[in-house]
This record gives sequence, structure tokens and C-alpha cells, in this order.
Amino acid sequence: MKKWQKLVTGTLTVAAVLTLAACGGQKAVKKTKPSTSDATAAASAKSAYTPTSEMKSSYDVVIIGAGGAGMTAAIEAKDAGMNPVILEKMPVAGGNTSKSSAGMNASETTVEHAQGVADSNQQFFDETLKGGGGTNDQALLRYFVDHSASAIDWLATNGIVLDNLTTTGGMSVARTHRPSDGSAIGQYLVAGLEKNIKSREIPLFVNSDVTAITEKDGKISGVKVKVDETKTKTISAKAVVVTTGGFGANKAMIKKYRPDLKDYVSTNAAGATGDGIKMIEKLGGATVDLDKIQIHPTVFKKTGYLVTEAVRGEGAILVNKAGKRFVNEMDTRDKVSAAELKQTGQTAYIIFGDATKSAVKAIDQYISKKIVTSASSLTELAKKIGVDQSQLDKTVASWNEAVASKTDSAFGRSTGMSKAITGTYYAIPVSPGIHHIMGGVKINTNTEVLKQDGKAIPGLYAAGEVTGGLHGSNRIGGNAVADIIIFGRQAGTQAAAYAKK
Ligand SMILES: Cc1cc2nc3c(=O)[nH]c(=O)nc-3n(C[C@H](O)[C@H](O)[C@H](O)COP(=O)(O)OP(=O)(O)OC[C@H]3O[C@@H](n4cnc5c(N)ncnc54)[C@H](O)[C@@H]3O)c2cc1C
Repeated sequence: MKKWQKLVTGTLTVAAVLTLAACGGQKAVKKTKPSTSDATAAASAKSAYTPTSEMKSSYDVVIIGAGGAGMTAAIEAKDAGMNPVILEKMPVAGGNTSKSSAGMNASETTVEHAQGVADSNQQFFDETLKGGGGTNDQALLRYFVDHSASAIDWLATNGIVLDNLTTTGGMSVARTHRPSDGSAIGQYLVAGLEKNIKSREIPLFVNSDVTAITEKDGKISGVKVKVDETKTKTISAKAVVVTTGGFGANKAMIKKYRPDLKDYVSTNAAGATGDGIKMIEKLGGATVDLDKIQIHPTVFKKTGYLVTEAVRGEGAILVNKAGKRFVNEMDTRDKVSAAELKQTGQTAYIIFGDATKSAVKAIDQYISKKIVTSASSLTELAKKIGVDQSQLDKTVASWNEAVASKTDSAFGRSTGMSKAITGTYYAIPVSPGIHHIMGGVKINTNTEVLKQDGKAIPGLYAAGEVTGGLHGSNRIGGNAVADIIIFGRQAGTQAAAYAKK
């Protein structure tokens, strides 16, 4: 067993407990110690995976990777009447999707309408394009915004309800959809998708590492998979969907495409190793923007643990060692990270009060992970974290005035301004960390994988973080989860249609 597999296996029970518990909402997310009923839940989560002995040598559609994009594609392929299988190399499903926190962006949704949020697909398109530096693949982006509302409805139909709204950096309205209680989206989403996979009896094999995609007569013919580290099996398929995620956990690839980032901590799951990109490149598939790697400004450096953007979206500010704000905290991630790197120690503190804590359930997890410092006064907080005391006092007072008047004359922030910093005060030290791979394999709006000449590779589809182009040079928070559901659905539908031919 490889080192990463041992690590993951060791945390399997707790992860499974948390994943399942998240279905139950706020109370469950707070849990840290498994109880007897949790142990039962964990056991049933384990049994959600199909025993290796049942792996067949032929399926209609093979899906590589059991993150959000892969499970979504599998559900659509099954609902289209096909017989799909999901092969996952790690001991558990979920990938980076299970780590996602802030939520899923979508415009003109039933949720926004019900809550009186005025939004439009065009506005969503324009803001994403602006955030991406104008370099986004506009055909993909148009498909994305136009299918975002139906993706929220599709999830709800499948029991995954995202009816609580927040805002992420670079977005002008509350279009980030998250679970009703404001908890992190990832574990809730993965648990919901797994439930749908199970109820449809879609086989999901873990510890199944796909090493190659095979071709015959110019068409995709299946995959080679290493099962349980011991045997290699060839599986034939009419279509293959690649949903292997990005390469944020592959240091060699980071160094190859962005040597300047080689020593950065990563927020990514261990399975984000770029396998899909490498396998598709071998088939002559084109790639785009592989050097476009996002660093996220609020990562707890020691562990690579991400502090969700929703904390700023619900009112937090960033201060430097001098106790001063230095940026519009709700600007896009590239700009906030760049500003942070100019501060002493290339670090900052995210500061918030009780109202923010109540609005973002993930903060309870940060507290249980002991990354949060709290105090009953700002002076005490400043002392504990080693920040200039009188300046922190002034900064928070002037921020609270800005919240009251809805005018941030210092940095022009206009969102995440509904909550003053009062009550108990909290701080988390943060630095930029590797977070998202914007680049990847080139696809069209049918999720067909394209060659350099623009022609599709027959029978090969891809969706999610393994693909490139949608986000341009900077991904907006909340747009990756939208990507995996919108294009995961499309990949499942298109692969099924191809397989039926
Ligand atoms: C900490 C964190 C927080 C985030 N928060 C948000 C957020 O709030 N909103 C948002 O929009 N985005 C967020 N993102 C980004 C988003 O979660 C990801 O981009 C997205 O979930 C990727 O989904 P995916 O299905 O493409 O890949 P993944 O979910 O990473 O799944 C890919 C799967 O493929 C498997 N795999 C890889 N290679 C192989 C192989 N050879 N054989 C078999 N299986 C393989 C992997 O093990 C993995 O399970 C966050 C990311 C992180 C890391």
C-alpha cells in the first residue's frame, strides 16, 4: 500500500462519518467524535463501494474519478439508460469536491428568485470573464452560465438542496448556493451524490487506479486499471469520461508548469495528481492554460487547510502585522493573494466577530482544528496574535463604520458588508496556497476532448477540474463546483448518447 493510501485509509472511518453526518446538516457537521450510530453510518459508507470481485470486463461508459464531476456524469449516463461504472484510485470517493466549502455559483435560479436577489446570466458571464482576465473560453462560459440554474434544480430533484446564498470574491450579488444551514458544501454534496449512485446501483470501485485509456481503430475502446495495487485489468467501453480533477497535489507538475510555486503549500486532496491530463496527452489531446494555477489567499500554512471565502463573504477583514487592512478582501483571489504576498512575512490575519461565526458553519470546524484564536477584546486578540494593538482597534472601528454606512472609502469593498465585527473576536493566520488548476484538457461544449487540430477524439469526454479554459486566468470562488455539476451532467448525457449509437 502506498504512503498516501495508508494515510487516507487511516482517516477513512472519520471521513465517512463526517461525509454521512453532513447529510443531517448543522449539528452533524459540528461532530468531532464518532458515536455508535456514527460507526454504523461509517460501516454503511464503506459498503457503498462495490467489491472488486464484481468488476466486469465491459461497460457502456467508464468514468475515471469519483469526484463531483464523475459521480454527476455517472448519474446522467445511468438515467439515459446506459450501464456506467466509476473507477476511483483512492480508498474513498470525493476528491477535491469533498473539500469544497463556500458553495456553488449560479444565476437566475429559483433560490435567488425566492429570496429577491436580482441577477442575470449575462451579469454572471460578464463578472466571470472579468475575473478570468478576459481569457476564458467564451463558448464554455456561455454554456456554463445558461445551464447554472437548471443544475441547482437538478441537484434539488436529487435531494441535494442548496438554498442558502452567500457571495464570493469578484461577484457582485449573492449567487453562491450552499446548504440550508450555511455549512460547507463539499461533504454534503459528495454524500448526496453517493446516495444517488447507490440508489441507482451504479458500480463504484475504489482503489482502482486507471493507468491508460485505450484506443482501437481511431476510437476510444476502454481503460487499463490497476486494482488494489496488485492486478491490472483491461475494461472495454463504448465511451470514456475523464473526471480525474486537477494536479494541485502533484509537486512535479507544479514545478514543471509554475516553478515559482514549487514550495507553496497545497489545499488539494492527495488524488489530484494530473493523471487524466497525462493520459489524454498520450492520445494526442490538446491542453490549455496549464500554467494558470490559482493560489488562494486564505490558507492555514502549517497544514494547507483552507479558510473558505465565505468567511470574508460574511463580513471578515484581512489585516497585516501592523494591524492594518491592505486590500479589498472581496476582490478576486489573484489580486488578494498578490496584495498579501507584499505584507510582512507574506502573511495576514483574517479577523471576524460573532455574526460571521454564526453565518459560516465551517468556522466550527476551524475552531475544532485549533487554528482560530479568540478573545473578548481586540486588545487581547492583538496581543495573542502579535499584531499592533492600538492599530487593530482603529482598523476594526473604522471597518464597523464602513459596514454601518455601506461605504468602504479605504478600499472600495461593496460586498460582504452586512455584519459588523463585534462580540467575541476571532483571528486565523493565513497565507496564499496552491488551490486550483485553471488549465487542463481542451473540450468543447459537448465535453468532447479535442485534439490540437480541433477535432474530437471519438468516444472521449472530460469534465471538471481536469479540463481547462472555462475559468481563464483566475477562477472565481464557487465556479468550480458549478463547473463539475454543469459539465459533469453534460459529459454523462453526451457519453451516453455516443454509447447508444
Ligand atoms: C479546499 C478546497 C475548497 C474548495 N472550495 C470550493 C468551493 O467552495 N466552491 C467551488 O466552486 N470550488 C471549490 N473548490 C474547487 C473544487 O472543489 C474542485 O475544483 C472540484 O470539486 C473538482 O471536482 P472534480 O470532480 O473535477 O475533481 P475531484 O473532486 O478532485 O475528483 C477527481 C477524482 O479523480 C480521482 N482520480 C484521479 N486520478 C485517477 C486515476 N488515475 N484513476 C482513478 N481515479 C483517479 C481522484 O482521486 C478524485 O477522487 C475547492 C477546492 C479545494 C481543494
